[in-house]
Order: sequence, then C-alpha cells, then structure tokens
Amino acid sequence: MFNSTSILIYTLFYIIVSICFVFKTTEFVSNGLTVENLFENFVGKEYDNFIVHHIKRTSLTIIIHSSIPLVYLLGTLLANDSEEEIVYQYFYELFCLALIPVVLSCSVLYKWMSNNWANHPLVKILIRYDPGDWMLVAREISMEYQCLQKLTLSCGTLTRIIVTDNWVLSINLYSVNIAKKMESSFVVYSSDNHNTSPDGNLGSVQFINIQVIPIRARVKSFFIRIKSEDFKTLEEKIGQPIQIADNIKLQRSRTERFIEVFRDEVRQNPVYSNYSATDIEDSICAGCLVNPPDIKLTKCCEDNDDTDLPKCSSCQCRPMWCVDCMAKWYESRQPQNNETLWLSSKCTCPLCRRVFCILDVCALQNSELARVN
Ligand SMILES: [Zn+2]
Ligand SMILES: [Zn+2]
Ligand SMILES: [Zn+2]
Repeated sequence: MFNSTSILIYTLFYIIVSICFVFKTTEFVSNGLTVENLFENFVGKEYDNFIVHHIKRTSLTIIIHSSIPLVYLLGTLLANDSEEEIVYQYFYELFCLALIPVVLSCSVLYKWMSNNWANHPLVKILIRYDPGDWMLVAREISMEYQCLQKLTLSCGTLTRIIVTDNWVLSINLYSVNIAKKMESSFVVYSSDNHNTSPDGNLGSVQFINIQVIPIRARVKSFFIRIKSEDFKTLEEKIGQPIQIADNIKLQRSRTERFIEVFRDEVRQNPVYSNYSATDIEDSICAGCLVNPPDIKLTKCCEDNDDTDLPKCSSCQCRPMWCVDCMAKWYESRQPQNNETLWLSSKCTCPLCRRVFCILDVCALQNSELARVN
C-alpha cells in the first residue's frame, strides 16, 4: 500500500499522535496538548465561565476531531516523493471523502450557534431549568463551580464529575450533562472490576456506573462513572442516598479492607492492662473524635537484627487512639504501591514518633476490642 518510507512514517506518526490527542493521554494532557489548552484564547478558562467554556470547547472539539482525516491528506502533500502512492492516485476522491465529516460537523455547529447558542445540547438542558433566561442558570453554575467546596472526581482524562452545592455536572469529550441535585435520583446501575487501576496502583479496582435521573421534564438521564471507593464521598456530597441495584455488590475500599485485617492482627496481640480507668475516662480518640480510645502502643515484639527496619520502642503516650484511626494512620505511612509489605513493616506513633510494628498495638483491657478476643 505504501511504496515510500516517508509517507509510511508520516502515516504512522499521524495515527499515533491523533489517537493520543483525541483520547487525551496523560502525556498529552500534562504537556498542554489538548483542545482547551491549545485554543484557550477562544474557549476561555473553565474557572472564569464554566458554561461558556464548555459550549465553546465541545463545539471546537467536534470541528477539530472531524478535520483529522483532512489534515492528514493535506500533510501527505508535504511528504510527497512518489506519484505512485495510492493517496496521490485517488487524492481528489479521498479529499472529498475527508471533507464529509468536516461539512457535517460545521452544519451541526451552525445549528448549535443559531439564536445565541440556544440549540447547543448543554444550553437546551439549561433552558429546561429556566425557560426565561438560561444565562441565569449558567451564571449560577459558574459561580458554584468557583467555590472551593465542590467535589471533583475523574475517571481517566476523558471524563470528570463535578458536584457543586446544587448541581451535578458530568463533563465528557463532546458533551456536558447537568442535573440539579435536589431534583434528581441516583442509582448504581452497573459495576466492573479491574485488576490494575489506570494509575498503576496494585490491587483490584471496582468502577461503578451511576445513572442520574432528573425529575424535571425533558431533561435526559445520564451516567456517571466513578471508582467505588469514591462512592461514600459522592453520596455525602450529593446529600441523599444513592440507591444500589440488587445485583450489585460494592467492593469495600482498600482502607476499609485494611482496617479489618489490622483489627484481626491486634486481637491476637497481648491485652494492655497497665492503666487506670481514670486515664481514659471521658476521653475520645484524637483522630475521629467519636470512638473511645481502645489501643495502646507498647513494645511486645522481638526485634529482628537481620532487617534494616528501625527498632521498636515503647510509646509513652497515654491511650488516645481507636484501632480504626490507628489502622488508617498505619496505612497512610506505608508504601502505597506495595500492600504485601504493610504488615511486616513499621510505623511511628502519631504523637511521640516512637517506632512500633503491628505486634506492638495492644487492645486495652475492658475495651470492646479486647472483649471480642
Ligand atoms: Zn478514632
Ligand atoms: Zn506515642
Ligand atoms: Zn515492634
């Protein structure tokens, strides 16, 4: 098909660059090679005017993506060194073919732009929320987007979910979906498990697809996709329970799973009794400010001379942590990409920084934790 190397190299290069550009690989995103960054003068900043930015961004994206074949063909003219190539023999036919998507996307854009963007899909949703003046809703959303309290969850570089005080916004490559939180219901619709997450963390990751169903007439439902470990955060931010379809079992987060393992380990350690009830009377865990303290860090292990790990010593702090908070603290101090080392590793007391290992975490006598022993 390709007789000359220059056109072959050009073709391969063009395909790879186009795929990375369209699917926004992290390398392209971090180097600013995205539509919104390259044409920032036209689309404006998302932070300054969220709705206008996305109206322009989605429009420009379909134009640019649809002209990829056309730009390729024009590029072959520069790489020209053999008239035999199939692209030159059929250049005009291919040119007409490549023009089709551009013409189609331009006609779509023309329709969207008419009547001050009133036909753009995003504006159509806003009009449902304020038939009088969609700019008012747009301004409200843009202002809420500027608030620091918004929640942003992303699944790869192509989609983002933003929850502000009143709105749920789902940002995709060619579209943005919007629903008012209070006027919508949320259902976990499906889930899928993957053994390695895209950012390279070990362990299995569960993704869930949540259907957002707006009650308001003629606002279409849409799906958002998140990691199941973000489920609780999302539910809290949405401020209403998210229903879970019967056939779906949410995987617990890695922290939740670790807390359970940590508790089991602590239950096998000696119980700590060298304290008086007045020491912990009325005190609450310094981490969660909810549970009573139920553990004490005290050296019980035999230090092993063969390892490079620091030696354990007894922490002098009075009991002030609950086992769950200590488990979270312990987890946060471990190498995040190698869970197999966690239990054999060490940590330092959150307060006095003395070194301890998991064998040194003892349940307080009379605590709930010790009773289950
Ligand atoms: Zn706690
Ligand atoms: Zn301590
Ligand atoms: Zn130890």
